[in-house]
Amino acid sequence: MKLINQFKLQFKSIAENVAFARVTVAAFASQLDYTLNDLEEIKVALSEAITNAIVHGYENDHQQIIELTVSLTDAGMEIRVEDKGKGIEDIARAMEPTYSTDPERMGLGFVFMQSFMDEFQVDSAPGKGTTVVMFKKVNSAAANPEH
Ligand code: ATP
Ligand code: MG
Repeated sequence: MKLINQFKLQFKSIAENVAFARVTVAAFASQLDYTLNDLEEIKVALSEAITNAIVHGYENDHQQIIELTVSLTDAGMEIRVEDKGKGIEDIARAMEPTYSTDPERMGLGFVFMQSFMDEFQVDSAPGKGTTVVMFKKVNSAAANPEH
């Protein structure tokens, strides 16, 4: 797997930055031959990860920093979303469909990330923060049949 391009971005933990990150990542991803459907799935997974950092990791403290690292390779794109917030006590439980620590939420963010991305990993420790790493394969043959 060859690294083609990479960026790292730090932004404040405010909801407006979900849209900012979506547009940024979609523009960056246009360097690979993703389908429109792939791009939609990437945007949903990204939004879920950043929203989790804002509402759970930082508990809506808008003064905190989220770090986004995106790497393009010849095989696809890796997205890393990192917060230094409260962390997750039980990762396996948090990943269960419909499990949420907030009764107002559906508990489906991790389910979307897992089903829309080809690889998905969560590292987290209470009091230290959470890092979500996701990878979406690119199939240039399918996206560009004439190539
Ligand atoms: P939804 O995403 O449907 O609005 P949700 O955010 O509760 O609901 P998930 O995104 O699947 O559901 O996350 C499950 C649980 O994992 C959360 O309720 C929260 O307790 C924990 N969690 C997820 N991301 C983080 C994070 N970055 N920091 C701390 N806890 C997190
Ligand atoms: Mg969520």
